Amino acid sequence: MNAPGVQAGHGEHGRRDAAAAAAAAAGTRLDPWFSAYADRAHGMRASEVRSLFAVANRPEVVSLAGGMPNIEGLPLDFLSEMTAKLLRERGSKALQYGGGQGEEELREQIVEVMRYDHIHAHPDDVVVTTGSQQALDLVAEIFLDPGDVVVAEAPSYVGALGVFRAYEADVVHVPMDDDGLVPDLLDATLTELKKAGRPVKLLYTVPNYHNPAGVTLSEERRPRIVEICRRHHVLILEDNPYGLLGFDADPMPALQSYDAEGVVYLGSFSKTFAPGYRVGWALAPHAVREKLVLASEAAILSPTMMGQLSIATYLSSYDWYSQVKNYRAMYRERRDAMLSALSEFLPEASWTVPEGGFYTWVTLPSGLDAQAMLPRAVTNLVAYVSGTAFFADGQGHGNMRLSFCYPTPERIREGVRRLADVVRDEAEL
Ligand code: PMP
Repeated sequence: MNAPGVQAGHGEHGRRDAAAAAAAAAGTRLDPWFSAYADRAHGMRASEVRSLFAVANRPEVVSLAGGMPNIEGLPLDFLSEMTAKLLRERGSKALQYGGGQGEEELREQIVEVMRYDHIHAHPDDVVVTTGSQQALDLVAEIFLDPGDVVVAEAPSYVGALGVFRAYEADVVHVPMDDDGLVPDLLDATLTELKKAGRPVKLLYTVPNYHNPAGVTLSEERRPRIVEICRRHHVLILEDNPYGLLGFDADPMPALQSYDAEGVVYLGSFSKTFAPGYRVGWALAPHAVREKLVLASEAAILSPTMMGQLSIATYLSSYDWYSQVKNYRAMYRERRDAMLSALSEFLPEASWTVPEGGFYTWVTLPSGLDAQAMLPRAVTNLVAYVSGTAFFADGQGHGNMRLSFCYPTPERIREGVRRLADVVRDEAEL
């Protein structure tokens, strides 16, 4: 039998076949290529976040849904001049193909950036990717066979769940509390899965300013998580796009800093600089790094040269850390606006208190269903993401993720006020 929380997997062929037959009957009417798709494509669907984009972006809707960084404060004059100069002086390189692992010049700077996370790495062990999203895909591609188990926090980043689904892995969630992933529950889950004959390939974790939960793994728990995974021979996939965006404290040591051989660490310039460049990276043990490069070359030949050289120039010629500090100050103000609006308008709910990043995780009064309520919220001109998007096993109906990164503090307040109206109406139904 499946362990608790295991997604419908490969042991459930009967149910899957029936569902596939029903879908095929409907699918062939709409898509003449339906029967030609690989099995894994049938499991792909638009995430709840993506399908919301169109409505949530209408100007009259206050969107507390998306995780788009607020790039309005970027130094556009500097960047325009920098880009013109880059093309003038190094255009023949910036517009050409590059190596599959990424530019050494940038990898050296990435090593410096990771020092903030207490990581001491060599540029040879860094692979530049098309955002950390591609790194997630590459790690899944080289490690996951259909039916393999990935353990992830409950809840977990929707984009990672989509990748694991695409490789037909099963996700088992382990609970968090206000200090992040709970070590004893992780240990128990790994032991139970081993006993059930289902060894775990990866622990996927977002230790800092979690998307969507808003919590951070305490420093005391970090070596314990690493020790547990080492004991169970489980590779840790540490995803850290928000680590530099702490509001009050410096970053805590990355899990990678405790065990360089047991962790693949993912970083990104999307949240500390700008997502449009599409530059992220993976830091991996030697042999893993070689596989990642081969997989990446097969997928994209080389990461964007224009993006890499732009970021390398920005890091070397602009006070990039002062930009990070600007982001922190802006997001802190928005976090405060959201938490005080929640206290004022929605005291019957509970929520996490993020110390960095973009998100808070709200638990609704019992009996309310965030997924069912969403159409009514959008009618009332406010959008959020239902908690169900962040689980592989159907949990999350009583939760929602609220993002404070994009709207102004005034709009956040108005959005939470509208949301509270919807919650109150719903509770009375
Ligand atoms: N991981 C997490 C936890 C994220 O929140 C995101 C972006 N929302 C990503 C990875 C992907 O970011 P990017 O590809 O822009 O680096």
